[in-house]
Amino acid sequence: MNIQTIIKKAIKRLEIEGKLLTPDFYTEAFCKEAASAGFRVEDCAKLDKFKSMLNKEFQDELKKYHIKTISELAHFLISKLNRTNPSHCSNLLETQTAFTKRVLQVIEVLHNREASELARKSLDLLGREPSIAEMEQFIQSWVNFVGTYDDSFLQILKLFGDIDSSDLKKSVQNLNLADVSAKPFNSFELSKVASLLVSSLVPSIASDINEKIAEISQKIQKNPALLESATIADEIKSAISLRIALDKQSVKDMIESIDGVLDRLSLRLIEMIESSDSSTLEIQKIKKELESYSNESTSANFNIAHKKLYTIAVALEENTKALTKDLKKHSGEVTVLSKKIEQLEYELEQAKEQSREDFLTKLYNKRALDELMNVKEAEFERYEHNFTVVFFDLDHFKSVNDTYGHDAGDAVLFAFAKILKHEARTVDIIGRFGGEEFMAILGETDLDGGVVFAQKIRNKLKNARMMYKDNHIKLTVSCGVSERKTHFSLQNLIKSADEALYKAKKDGRDRVEAK
Ligand code: GH3
Ligand code: MG
Ligand code: MG
Repeated sequence: MNIQTIIKKAIKRLEIEGKLLTPDFYTEAFCKEAASAGFRVEDCAKLDKFKSMLNKEFQDELKKYHIKTISELAHFLISKLNRTNPSHCSNLLETQTAFTKRVLQVIEVLHNREASELARKSLDLLGREPSIAEMEQFIQSWVNFVGTYDDSFLQILKLFGDIDSSDLKKSVQNLNLADVSAKPFNSFELSKVASLLVSSLVPSIASDINEKIAEISQKIQKNPALLESATIADEIKSAISLRIALDKQSVKDMIESIDGVLDRLSLRLIEMIESSDSSTLEIQKIKKELESYSNESTSANFNIAHKKLYTIAVALEENTKALTKDLKKHSGEVTVLSKKIEQLEYELEQAKEQSREDFLTKLYNKRALDELMNVKEAEFERYEHNFTVVFFDLDHFKSVNDTYGHDAGDAVLFAFAKILKHEARTVDIIGRFGGEEFMAILGETDLDGGVVFAQKIRNKLKNARMMYKDNHIKLTVSCGVSERKTHFSLQNLIKSADEALYKAKKDGRDRVEAK
């Protein structure tokens, strides 16, 4: 289909619809025909193009009025333009701005620092065509101000009269100001304040009061009304800082003096401890030293510290003296007692040795041997534990004493004891029965075992080279052996062993006899 056909169809459509061939109707009909023929004619889309250029609210309004053609759009816009009056708008805006400015100027002079500050800043803002964002920020500041506004301070004024928080001027007029001025500052109150003030001006540590402080203190005390004058406040301020300075200096001096004294004292104490035997004398020296320090400083506070140290030294001296006296008094008694204890300890040791040990050979003595034999006897009676006793008697021992002396005899006895000890088992009981006689009690041992043991000892002694002061002493021993189980009683056993020994002597000595 070409454009001529579309034109013809558009004219035909107008005829059918009974419309006149005006440009508007024609355009409408042409565009419809073109659209149904599949043609895209740019002029037909003009309305939509203009519509899309308008703001959303206008577009909505166009829908409401069913605007379909360019000329309808033109009508709509004309009527809109006719209704708006730009000069009216700007007049309104100007008047509103002027109004806001006036309000802010008023707030600026009101007696609220926060509000007037905010008002001043808002006025600045309005003077330089602010952005919407800036204005919104200020709106928030004002909201915040109202939200946090606190007039509770007015409550204080209630003490002096009725308060109407909506009319401060009237409230102030209502205040009983005569009372307020009369109340705290009557002369009685002032003199009380003055004496308090004066005492606070006196240094608490420094002992000498400065002239300036003294002068101002006197002035206030004489005439408390001076406190109401403006100049006195500055004077008091400087007096207080002077007072603090004096105290500080005083503390510094005091610490220095005490440090010095303590240094010297500690040195003296170290010396004293090092030579502790003359402690009283040393403490007296310290006391004397303290006495000399008292002349070194005139500070009253140093004197107090010094007095305390001096008292300590005196107490220390007295205690040490008393202690020394006490010690001296008791030292004699202590010496006697300790000697007694020593003696007792010695005797105890002796008694112990004597009770069970032979003093010469350190083997069991006769008493111990008797006891131990009784133990063995009890074991035999209860458990039938057999045991054997061996008697040893050194041969011709008397001649050893006679030839080489008693000391040589002792040495030989000691040497024989050593052989016995060496050959015996730890469970064997060996002892000195008396003089040059020895005994062995052999537990769980029969007669034959006892003979073997006796022979061993006899041979050892015979072959031993016993020397005493260059003398070679030859010695033999005779032995008597008996076992318990073949005897009727302990006494019987002892008697039997003794008889065996006797037989060994009789048969020529240096032999073992068993019975
Ligand atoms: P026998 O062969 O017959 O036993 O002759 P013996 O000389 O050994 O016997 P006797 O009994 O005649 O002499 C024992 C001597 O042992 C007498 C005594 O002086 C001496 N004696 C006893 N005990 C001690 C002592 O502890 N030390 C010294 N050195 N000698 C002692
Ligand atoms: Mg004898
Ligand atoms: Mg003998």
